[in-house]
Amino acid sequence: MSTGLTEVPFLDVGASYREIEGEIDEAVRRVLASGRYVLGSEVEAFEHDYAAFVGAPECISVANGLDALTLALVALDVGPGDEVIVPANTYIATWLAVTRSGASIVPVEPDEATYNVTADAVEAAITNRTKVIMPVHLYGQPVDLAPIRALAGKHGLRIVEDAAQAHGARYRGARIGSDADVVAWSFYPGKNLGAVGDGGAVTTGDAALADRLRSLRNYGSTLKYVNEEVGFNSRLDPIQAAVLGVKLRYLDEWNRRRGEIADRYQTELEAAPVRLPHVLADVLPAWHLFVVRTAYRDNLAEHLSRCGIGTMVHYPIPPHLQQAYAHLGFEEGSFPITEAVHREVLSLPIGPHLSAQQHAQVIDAVGEWAPAHH
Ligand SMILES: *Cc1c(COP(=O)(O)O)cnc(C)c1O
Repeated sequence: MSTGLTEVPFLDVGASYREIEGEIDEAVRRVLASGRYVLGSEVEAFEHDYAAFVGAPECISVANGLDALTLALVALDVGPGDEVIVPANTYIATWLAVTRSGASIVPVEPDEATYNVTADAVEAAITNRTKVIMPVHLYGQPVDLAPIRALAGKHGLRIVEDAAQAHGARYRGARIGSDADVVAWSFYPGKNLGAVGDGGAVTTGDAALADRLRSLRNYGSTLKYVNEEVGFNSRLDPIQAAVLGVKLRYLDEWNRRRGEIADRYQTELEAAPVRLPHVLADVLPAWHLFVVRTAYRDNLAEHLSRCGIGTMVHYPIPPHLQQAYAHLGFEEGSFPITEAVHREVLSLPIGPHLSAQQHAQVIDAVGEWAPAHH
Protein backbone atom coordinates (compact mmCIF):
# COMPACT_ATOMS: atom_id res chain seq x y z
CA MET A 1 0.00 0.00 0.00
CA SER A 2 2.88 2.36 0.71
CA THR A 3 4.37 1.85 -2.77
CA GLY A 4 5.39 5.14 -4.29
CA LEU A 5 4.57 7.07 -1.13
CA THR A 6 6.97 8.58 1.38
CA GLU A 7 7.13 7.00 4.77
CA VAL A 8 5.57 9.25 7.41
CA PRO A 9 7.52 8.92 10.66
CA PHE A 10 5.54 9.62 13.80
CA LEU A 11 8.13 12.16 14.83
CA ASP A 12 11.45 13.25 13.38
CA VAL A 13 13.29 14.92 16.28
CA GLY A 14 16.34 15.62 14.13
CA ALA A 15 14.35 17.68 11.62
CA SER A 16 14.30 20.86 13.70
CA TYR A 17 18.09 20.62 14.08
CA ARG A 18 18.61 20.18 10.33
CA GLU A 19 16.39 23.20 9.61
CA ILE A 20 18.65 25.54 11.63
CA GLU A 21 21.84 23.51 11.82
CA GLY A 22 24.27 26.40 11.28
CA GLU A 23 22.83 28.51 14.11
CA ILE A 24 22.76 25.59 16.54
CA ASP A 25 26.31 24.50 15.75
CA GLU A 26 27.48 28.05 16.32
CA ALA A 27 25.70 28.23 19.69
CA VAL A 28 27.22 24.93 20.85
CA ARG A 29 30.72 26.02 19.79
CA ARG A 30 30.26 29.29 21.65
CA VAL A 31 29.58 27.37 24.89
CA LEU A 32 32.51 25.01 24.33
CA ALA A 33 34.86 27.94 23.76
CA SER A 34 33.53 29.87 26.78
CA GLY A 35 34.96 27.47 29.35
CA ARG A 36 31.82 27.98 31.47
CA TYR A 37 30.05 24.62 31.64
CA VAL A 38 27.67 24.93 34.60
CA LEU A 39 25.13 27.80 35.02
CA GLY A 40 26.52 31.17 33.87
CA SER A 41 25.48 33.61 31.17
CA GLU A 42 24.14 31.12 28.59
CA VAL A 43 21.72 29.70 31.17
CA GLU A 44 20.74 33.16 32.37
CA ALA A 45 20.15 34.36 28.81
CA PHE A 46 17.83 31.46 28.04
CA GLU A 47 15.95 31.94 31.33
CA HIS A 48 15.47 35.60 30.45
CA ASP A 49 14.25 34.80 26.92
CA TYR A 50 11.93 31.99 27.99
CA ALA A 51 10.38 34.13 30.76
CA ALA A 52 9.77 36.85 28.17
CA PHE A 53 8.30 34.32 25.74
CA VAL A 54 5.72 32.95 28.18
CA GLY A 55 5.13 36.32 29.86
CA ALA A 56 6.35 35.27 33.31
CA PRO A 57 8.42 37.47 35.63
CA GLU A 58 10.77 34.59 36.57
CA CYS A 59 12.20 31.50 34.89
CA ILE A 60 14.34 29.02 36.81
CA SER A 61 15.85 26.36 34.57
CA VAL A 62 16.50 22.85 35.88
CA ALA A 63 17.78 19.53 34.56
CA ASN A 64 14.47 18.06 33.28
CA GLY A 65 10.69 18.29 33.49
CA LEU A 66 10.32 15.82 36.35
CA ASP A 67 12.70 17.92 38.45
CA ALA A 68 10.78 21.08 37.52
CA LEU A 69 7.59 19.55 38.91
CA THR A 70 9.34 18.05 41.96
CA LEU A 71 11.25 21.19 42.90
CA ALA A 72 8.14 23.33 42.48
CA LEU A 73 6.37 21.15 45.05
CA VAL A 74 9.35 21.11 47.44
CA ALA A 75 9.69 24.90 47.15
CA LEU A 76 6.02 25.21 48.12
CA ASP A 77 6.80 23.13 51.26
CA VAL A 78 4.71 20.21 50.04
CA GLY A 79 5.70 17.02 51.84
CA PRO A 80 4.55 14.03 53.88
CA GLY A 81 0.98 14.38 55.14
CA ASP A 82 -0.03 16.70 52.29
CA GLU A 83 -2.25 15.72 49.37
CA VAL A 84 -1.74 16.78 45.78
CA ILE A 85 -4.57 16.42 43.26
CA VAL A 86 -3.34 15.10 39.90
CA PRO A 87 -5.03 13.78 36.76
CA ALA A 88 -5.42 10.00 36.57
CA ASN A 89 -4.93 10.49 32.84
CA THR A 90 -1.40 11.81 32.47
CA TYR A 91 2.19 10.84 31.81
CA ILE A 92 3.59 9.17 34.94
CA ALA A 93 6.06 12.03 35.61
CA THR A 94 3.25 14.13 37.11
CA TRP A 95 2.69 11.41 39.71
CA LEU A 96 6.41 10.75 40.28
CA ALA A 97 6.95 14.40 41.24
CA VAL A 98 4.33 14.10 44.00
CA THR A 99 5.90 10.86 45.22
CA ARG A 100 9.36 12.49 45.23
CA SER A 101 8.03 15.37 47.35
CA GLY A 102 6.76 12.87 49.93
CA ALA A 103 3.12 13.95 49.54
CA SER A 104 0.16 11.69 48.71
CA ILE A 105 -1.28 11.38 45.23
CA VAL A 106 -5.00 12.04 44.82
CA PRO A 107 -5.95 11.16 41.22
CA VAL A 108 -9.05 12.50 39.49
CA GLU A 109 -10.74 11.33 36.29
CA PRO A 110 -10.56 13.46 33.12
CA ASP A 111 -13.39 14.99 31.17
CA GLU A 112 -14.34 12.67 28.26
CA ALA A 113 -14.31 15.51 25.74
CA THR A 114 -10.97 17.18 26.53
CA TYR A 115 -9.10 14.35 28.35
CA ASN A 116 -8.17 17.05 30.91
CA VAL A 117 -9.32 17.54 34.51
CA THR A 118 -12.21 19.86 35.27
CA ALA A 119 -12.89 22.01 38.34
CA ASP A 120 -15.88 19.82 39.30
CA ALA A 121 -13.76 16.66 39.46
CA VAL A 122 -11.02 18.50 41.33
CA GLU A 123 -13.45 19.99 43.85
CA ALA A 124 -14.84 16.55 44.72
CA ALA A 125 -11.30 15.41 45.60
CA ILE A 126 -10.42 18.29 47.96
CA THR A 127 -9.91 17.37 51.64
CA ASN A 128 -8.44 19.29 54.56
CA ARG A 129 -5.04 17.84 53.65
CA THR A 130 -5.05 19.09 50.05
CA LYS A 131 -2.23 21.52 49.43
CA VAL A 132 -1.73 21.70 45.68
CA ILE A 133 -3.73 21.11 42.49
CA MET A 134 -1.62 19.94 39.54
CA PRO A 135 -3.49 20.35 36.24
CA VAL A 136 -1.74 18.93 33.16
CA HIS A 137 -2.24 20.59 29.78
CA LEU A 138 -2.30 17.17 28.18
CA TYR A 139 -1.46 16.80 24.48
CA GLY A 140 -0.90 20.60 24.45
CA GLN A 141 -4.59 21.39 25.12
CA PRO A 142 -4.94 24.04 27.83
CA VAL A 143 -6.97 23.06 30.88
CA ASP A 144 -9.94 25.30 31.67
CA LEU A 145 -7.99 27.13 34.38
CA ALA A 146 -10.37 29.89 35.50
CA PRO A 147 -12.73 27.67 37.56
CA ILE A 148 -9.74 25.77 38.99
CA ARG A 149 -8.13 29.07 40.02
CA ALA A 150 -11.40 30.06 41.68
CA LEU A 151 -11.40 26.77 43.61
CA ALA A 152 -7.79 27.23 44.67
CA GLY A 153 -8.62 30.72 45.91
CA LYS A 154 -11.66 29.52 47.82
CA HIS A 155 -9.77 26.66 49.55
CA GLY A 156 -6.37 28.37 49.97
CA LEU A 157 -4.58 25.94 47.63
CA ARG A 158 -1.65 26.46 45.27
CA ILE A 159 -1.68 25.42 41.62
CA VAL A 160 1.36 23.89 39.92
CA GLU A 161 0.69 23.43 36.22
CA ASP A 162 2.38 20.65 34.26
CA ALA A 163 2.99 22.39 30.94
CA ALA A 164 5.49 19.87 29.58
CA GLN A 165 3.34 19.54 26.45
CA ALA A 166 2.08 23.12 26.16
CA HIS A 167 4.91 25.49 25.13
CA GLY A 168 3.27 28.46 23.45
CA ALA A 169 -0.32 27.33 24.06
CA ARG A 170 -2.79 30.06 25.00
CA TYR A 171 -5.71 30.20 27.42
CA ARG A 172 -8.08 33.16 27.03
CA GLY A 173 -5.50 34.92 24.87
CA ALA A 174 -2.63 34.64 27.38
CA ARG A 175 0.15 32.15 27.06
CA ILE A 176 0.25 29.25 29.51
CA GLY A 177 2.79 30.37 32.09
CA SER A 178 1.95 34.06 32.00
CA ASP A 179 0.97 36.06 35.08
CA ALA A 180 1.88 34.70 38.50
CA ASP A 181 1.28 31.00 37.83
CA VAL A 182 3.72 28.33 39.01
CA VAL A 183 4.31 26.32 35.86
CA ALA A 184 6.66 23.41 35.16
CA TRP A 185 8.15 22.82 31.72
CA SER A 186 10.12 20.02 30.07
CA PHE A 187 12.54 20.50 27.19
CA TYR A 188 12.87 16.77 26.46
CA PRO A 189 13.87 16.45 22.77
CA GLY A 190 10.41 15.37 21.57
CA LYS A 191 8.53 18.31 23.13
CA ASN A 192 7.43 21.39 21.13
CA LEU A 193 10.52 23.16 22.48
CA GLY A 194 13.09 20.40 22.78
CA ALA A 195 16.77 20.41 23.71
CA VAL A 196 19.40 18.03 22.35
CA GLY A 197 19.22 16.19 25.67
CA ASP A 198 17.29 16.76 28.89
CA GLY A 199 16.12 20.10 30.20
CA GLY A 200 13.33 21.73 32.20
CA ALA A 201 12.22 24.94 33.89
CA VAL A 202 9.77 26.49 36.30
CA THR A 203 8.23 29.84 35.47
CA THR A 204 6.51 31.91 38.12
CA GLY A 205 5.55 35.36 39.27
CA ASP A 206 6.41 34.51 42.87
CA ALA A 207 9.84 36.09 43.50
CA ALA A 208 10.39 34.34 46.84
CA LEU A 209 9.55 30.98 45.29
CA ALA A 210 11.96 31.73 42.43
CA ASP A 211 14.80 32.44 44.87
CA ARG A 212 14.08 29.21 46.72
CA LEU A 213 14.10 27.26 43.45
CA ARG A 214 17.43 28.80 42.41
CA SER A 215 18.88 27.59 45.70
CA LEU A 216 17.19 24.15 45.61
CA ARG A 217 18.48 23.33 42.10
CA ASN A 218 22.02 24.19 43.21
CA TYR A 219 22.59 22.12 46.40
CA GLY A 220 20.39 24.39 48.50
CA SER A 221 23.02 27.07 48.14
CA THR A 222 23.07 30.62 46.81
CA LEU A 223 26.61 31.42 47.99
CA LYS A 224 29.29 28.87 47.08
CA TYR A 225 29.96 26.42 49.95
CA VAL A 226 27.18 27.94 52.06
CA ASN A 227 24.15 25.60 52.19
CA GLU A 228 20.88 26.94 53.53
CA GLU A 229 18.90 23.76 53.01
CA VAL A 230 19.05 20.17 51.72
CA GLY A 231 19.02 20.80 48.00
CA PHE A 232 19.38 19.00 44.70
CA ASN A 233 21.78 19.11 41.79
CA SER A 234 19.38 19.94 38.97
CA ARG A 235 20.82 22.53 36.61
CA LEU A 236 20.15 23.12 32.94
CA ASP A 237 23.32 22.39 30.95
CA PRO A 238 24.62 25.57 29.22
CA ILE A 239 24.89 23.71 25.90
CA GLN A 240 21.20 22.84 26.19
CA ALA A 241 20.41 26.43 27.19
CA ALA A 242 22.23 27.77 24.12
CA VAL A 243 20.44 25.32 21.79
CA LEU A 244 17.07 26.11 23.39
CA GLY A 245 17.71 29.83 22.99
CA VAL A 246 18.11 29.35 19.23
CA LYS A 247 15.10 27.05 18.90
CA LEU A 248 12.92 29.39 20.96
CA ARG A 249 13.08 31.93 18.13
CA TYR A 250 11.39 29.38 15.85
CA LEU A 251 8.83 28.05 18.31
CA ASP A 252 5.91 30.25 17.23
CA GLU A 253 6.49 29.33 13.59
CA TRP A 254 6.81 25.63 14.40
CA ASN A 255 3.63 25.76 16.49
CA ARG A 256 1.87 27.58 13.65
CA ARG A 257 2.75 24.69 11.31
CA ARG A 258 1.43 22.21 13.88
CA GLY A 259 -1.81 24.22 14.05
CA GLU A 260 -2.15 24.18 10.29
CA ILE A 261 -1.84 20.39 10.19
CA ALA A 262 -4.28 20.05 13.09
CA ASP A 263 -6.82 22.24 11.27
CA ARG A 264 -6.56 20.05 8.16
CA TYR A 265 -6.96 16.88 10.22
CA GLN A 266 -9.99 18.40 12.00
CA THR A 267 -11.78 19.35 8.79
CA GLU A 268 -10.73 16.53 6.47
CA LEU A 269 -11.24 13.71 8.97
CA GLU A 270 -14.65 14.92 10.08
CA ALA A 271 -16.35 11.93 8.46
CA ALA A 272 -13.77 9.35 9.57
CA PRO A 273 -14.90 6.78 12.17
CA VAL A 274 -12.72 8.26 14.93
CA ARG A 275 -13.34 10.81 17.65
CA LEU A 276 -11.34 13.96 16.92
CA PRO A 277 -9.83 16.29 19.55
CA HIS A 278 -12.30 18.67 21.17
CA VAL A 279 -10.86 22.17 21.50
CA LEU A 280 -12.38 24.43 24.16
CA ALA A 281 -13.56 27.87 23.09
CA ASP A 282 -10.98 30.55 23.80
CA VAL A 283 -7.90 28.33 23.83
CA LEU A 284 -5.06 27.95 21.37
CA PRO A 285 -3.55 24.46 21.72
CA ALA A 286 0.17 23.87 21.22
CA TRP A 287 -0.78 20.69 19.30
CA HIS A 288 2.01 18.68 20.90
CA LEU A 289 -0.02 15.61 19.97
CA PHE A 290 -3.02 15.03 17.71
CA VAL A 291 -4.96 12.30 19.48
CA VAL A 292 -7.88 10.44 17.92
CA ARG A 293 -10.03 7.87 19.69
CA THR A 294 -11.66 4.65 18.54
CA ALA A 295 -12.62 1.36 20.14
CA TYR A 296 -10.64 -0.28 17.31
CA ARG A 297 -7.41 1.57 18.09
CA ASP A 298 -5.00 -1.31 17.50
CA ASN A 299 -6.65 -2.06 14.17
CA LEU A 300 -6.26 1.57 13.08
CA ALA A 301 -2.61 1.58 14.17
CA GLU A 302 -1.94 -1.58 12.12
CA HIS A 303 -3.71 -0.14 9.09
CA LEU A 304 -1.66 3.07 9.27
CA SER A 305 1.53 1.12 9.75
CA ARG A 306 0.78 -0.85 6.55
CA CYS A 307 0.38 2.54 4.84
CA GLY A 308 3.86 3.56 6.02
CA ILE A 309 2.55 5.90 8.75
CA GLY A 310 3.99 5.89 12.24
CA THR A 311 1.67 6.34 15.23
CA MET A 312 2.05 6.17 19.00
CA VAL A 313 -0.17 5.62 22.02
CA HIS A 314 -0.11 8.32 24.73
CA TYR A 315 -0.24 6.37 26.93
CA PRO A 316 -0.73 2.60 26.92
CA ILE A 317 -0.81 2.03 30.72
CA PRO A 318 -2.21 4.62 33.16
CA PRO A 319 -0.02 5.47 36.19
CA HIS A 320 -2.41 3.83 38.68
CA LEU A 321 -1.99 0.45 36.94
CA GLN A 322 1.80 0.67 36.65
CA GLN A 323 3.82 -1.70 38.84
CA ALA A 324 5.57 1.39 40.26
CA TYR A 325 2.27 2.33 41.93
CA ALA A 326 1.07 -1.15 42.89
CA HIS A 327 1.55 -0.13 46.56
CA LEU A 328 -1.26 2.42 46.24
CA GLY A 329 -3.64 -0.50 45.73
CA PHE A 330 -5.62 0.82 42.76
CA GLU A 331 -7.27 -2.04 40.87
CA GLU A 332 -8.38 -2.24 37.27
CA GLY A 333 -11.68 -0.32 37.16
CA SER A 334 -10.67 2.31 39.75
CA PHE A 335 -10.57 5.01 37.06
CA PRO A 336 -12.77 3.72 34.23
CA ILE A 337 -12.69 6.86 32.07
CA THR A 338 -8.89 7.00 32.21
CA GLU A 339 -8.63 3.29 31.48
CA ALA A 340 -10.93 3.54 28.46
CA VAL A 341 -8.92 6.50 27.15
CA HIS A 342 -5.71 4.50 27.46
CA ARG A 343 -7.30 1.60 25.56
CA GLU A 344 -8.70 3.75 22.74
CA VAL A 345 -6.42 6.69 21.92
CA LEU A 346 -3.96 6.89 19.05
CA SER A 347 -1.64 9.78 18.22
CA LEU A 348 -1.30 10.68 14.54
CA PRO A 349 1.91 12.24 13.19
CA ILE A 350 2.01 15.99 13.75
CA GLY A 351 4.96 18.31 13.83
CA PRO A 352 6.75 21.07 11.98
CA HIS A 353 8.69 18.41 10.07
CA LEU A 354 5.63 17.01 8.24
CA SER A 355 5.31 17.99 4.60
CA ALA A 356 1.95 18.75 3.00
CA GLN A 357 2.25 15.49 1.08
CA GLN A 358 2.87 13.58 4.27
CA HIS A 359 -0.11 14.88 6.21
CA ALA A 360 -2.30 14.45 3.10
CA GLN A 361 -1.17 10.82 3.14
CA VAL A 362 -2.24 10.50 6.79
CA ILE A 363 -5.64 11.99 5.94
CA ASP A 364 -6.13 9.59 3.03
CA ALA A 365 -5.09 6.56 5.07
CA VAL A 366 -7.34 7.38 8.05
CA GLY A 367 -10.17 8.30 5.65
CA GLU A 368 -10.08 4.99 3.82
CA TRP A 369 -9.92 2.95 7.05
CA ALA A 370 -12.93 0.87 7.99
CA PRO A 371 -12.69 -0.75 11.40
CA ALA A 372 -12.21 -4.53 11.04
CA HIS A 373 -14.26 -6.36 13.62
CA HIS A 374 -12.42 -9.52 14.49
C1 LIG B 1 7.55 14.95 29.25
C2 LIG B 1 6.62 15.14 30.38
C3 LIG B 1 7.08 15.30 31.70
C4 LIG B 1 8.48 15.05 32.12
O1 LIG B 1 9.48 15.72 31.50
P1 LIG B 1 10.96 15.14 31.45
O2 LIG B 1 11.75 16.29 30.96
O3 LIG B 1 10.98 13.96 30.53
O4 LIG B 1 11.35 14.76 32.85
C5 LIG B 1 6.15 15.59 32.67
N1 LIG B 1 4.84 15.69 32.39
C6 LIG B 1 4.36 15.51 31.16
C7 LIG B 1 2.89 15.64 30.93
C8 LIG B 1 5.22 15.23 30.11
O5 LIG B 1 4.73 15.03 28.88
